[in-house]
Amino acid sequence: QGKSNSHFVHWLKNTPSKGGSQSPVLGALIDHLQISMIPALVLLPLLLRVAALHCLLGIIILTALPSLVLWYYYATHKKKRRTLFFLTLALYSLAYMYYLFITEILPRGDVSQLQLCTVTSGMIFTIISLINTKRSPGFVTSSLYEAHTLKQEANKDTTHTNGSVQSAASSSATSTTKDSLKAKWSRCSVCKIIRPPRAGHCRTCGSCVQRLDHHCIWINSCVGQANHRSFLLTLFVFLLTSLYGISLVLGSICPRQYLVTALFYCPGVYSQSSTALCFTCAWYSSIVTGGLLYLLVVQVLNISFNVTEREAQLALRNKTGQSRLWGLVVDTGEYSRGFCQNWVDFLTMADVSASSRSSLTDLV
Ligand SMILES: [Zn+2]
Ligand SMILES: [Zn+2]
Repeated sequence: QGKSNSHFVHWLKNTPSKGGSQSPVLGALIDHLQISMIPALVLLPLLLRVAALHCLLGIIILTALPSLVLWYYYATHKKKRRTLFFLTLALYSLAYMYYLFITEILPRGDVSQLQLCTVTSGMIFTIISLINTKRSPGFVTSSLYEAHTLKQEANKDTTHTNGSVQSAASSSATSTTKDSLKAKWSRCSVCKIIRPPRAGHCRTCGSCVQRLDHHCIWINSCVGQANHRSFLLTLFVFLLTSLYGISLVLGSICPRQYLVTALFYCPGVYSQSSTALCFTCAWYSSIVTGGLLYLLVVQVLNISFNVTEREAQLALRNKTGQSRLWGLVVDTGEYSRGFCQNWVDFLTMADVSASSRSSLTDLV
């Protein structure tokens, strides 16, 4: 059985490199694109200006652009490597949309000072929250397990000093809980580190992350225990700012229509190049916002069921979870303690690691 086990580990280790060597042409192409794509971002304003020339050109470019980015996303995702391209694209788009808002929409005089202030603060808040998210996802360190064992030994000592029959009963109880906790802590075959339950190894970052949710290619970082809440906040603030910005733009270039109607039917919008550019950018922002809104819905549902994206993927592969709400969420039922308690757990989870860290400093 040991032989088959080592075989399995060998297979696990070899799979990613095999996947990479399967198509060296594609790999080289991606490597080349990796370097050349970032300066190519200068093309984005140009593409948007071309898309603003005619509504047919707009449809072609606005469907081709997201498809190209999605193709590039899956290609890099398969190779499991870090890339700055998506973060650069996101920040560049954000800056360019804001620049157009200031230079094209503001001079039209439909936007009040307060509305401009709201959009600007939303932008600043999004950037601050993004920087906060990028700080650290909460990597697993060897001191984490040391702190965990020290804490348990401390627990054991206190139960021993209690004396009498009660202590015997409680110490046997703690030893069983210790065994069950020990079983949940697992060893990563790549990092050679003992990690807490729900931690996962990210092949892109090359290390284990506490309560790993997923590796987000858009921020070029993992989303884990330490930054999951600020990741959600960034997403939420960005979506509010973006939806508000789009509504201001459409209200300015298409004042006679309802907001949602204006996006699909806005007569005479292509008669003026400035209005056409703003309309195209409103569409570009709407596509991005739509994609991120879907991500936010999935995230909110995952938290409500206390499932991480990694656990959902594993449950789908091993067929251990139950698909709920038209497949938007996979309920594993492993950690779920009811809707309210799940949110309390999520909002207070960083405190758990903080207390374990402080207990370590107390002990050492
Ligand atoms: Zn690992
Ligand atoms: Zn990662």
